[in-house]
Amino acid sequence: MKKDRILNIILIVLVVLLMCVAALVIFRPNIRNTERTNNSNTNTISTPTSNNPERNDATEDENNIDTTSTPESSTQTTNGRQNTETESNSQQNFEATPDVQEVPEDPNQPSDTPDGEIPIEPTDTDIGEESDDTEPPETPDTDEDSRPLEGMIICIDPGHQGRGDSTQEPIAPGSTETKAKVSSGTQGAFTRVAEYVLNLEVGLMLRDKLEELGAIVIMTRTTHDINISNSERAILANDNNCDMVIRIHANGSTDSSVRGYCIMIPGSLYTPNIVSDSRYMAEVLDSILPNYVSIPSLGLLTMNDLTGFNWLIVPGILLEMGFMTNRTDDETMQTAEFHEGVTDAMVDALIRYWVG
Ligand SMILES: [Zn+2]
Repeated sequence: MKKDRILNIILIVLVVLLMCVAALVIFRPNIRNTERTNNSNTNTISTPTSNNPERNDATEDENNIDTTSTPESSTQTTNGRQNTETESNSQQNFEATPDVQEVPEDPNQPSDTPDGEIPIEPTDTDIGEESDDTEPPETPDTDEDSRPLEGMIICIDPGHQGRGDSTQEPIAPGSTETKAKVSSGTQGAFTRVAEYVLNLEVGLMLRDKLEELGAIVIMTRTTHDINISNSERAILANDNNCDMVIRIHANGSTDSSVRGYCIMIPGSLYTPNIVSDSRYMAEVLDSILPNYVSIPSLGLLTMNDLTGFNWLIVPGILLEMGFMTNRTDDETMQTAEFHEGVTDAMVDALIRYWVG
């Protein structure tokens, strides 16, 4: 009986030992897994600064996973390291965000596009500068300003000549009415200067001024010793396709008190086609001449019986500068100041007529 009891006790002990061994076999791996997990977490966490228990680390890992997924949970301050990680994660997010914010750098590219447009605006400015570059072409304009009569053909007819020609000629093409080819003109009652002398002196001065401004000047005469009729002077202007004829004369009267200049223009009897332009030129000159000379204006006078007009097919005017039978006018017309003034006025009028 004692042997049976002994065997039973041995069996119980063996069973207990087996259970202990089994228990050791079962629980040992769990402990190793826990240690392994802690080690892996320590490796994952870049800053193992904690002396915290292993259980806390495992908890933080889960929280970290959550906070990693939801960075907003970083407000959970279980310890400083978690915040550090969260910040580092958030920093990673920021680093990722900056990468995303490099997308804002892409907006910078759109902003570069405006910057690209800005260079375009300078390009526009350059266009403005190019328009400034068109200023050099304005230099020719300046040349045009200095030569405003470029291309204009002007006939200057200083009235009369050294010796008159009483030979008759028709006063107009096909007309049976005749007049002397050219008269000797009048004479200064006080200065004793002949009209044809005064006319040529002013005419030559006017020629020089017009040519300096680019005009082509056709002179019916440049000397007193010539014989050219009034119809021939008109034909000379016609043949040269003159844009304007300026006839220069001085008047005379039996009344010495009569004074003043007047501007004669062709009538419509023989020259209807040139009346308008001739009148316009006369009006322009009459409007400015008082600014240049002291001799008063008597206005415009339409003439239908002047041979020098009636043969014209191009516009023209005749300026009677003043009365040589009036002392004031006579003496005035012999002054250099008057010569300058009357020629400057005619130049000004011709520019206004030509340029507009
Ligand atoms: Zn005359």
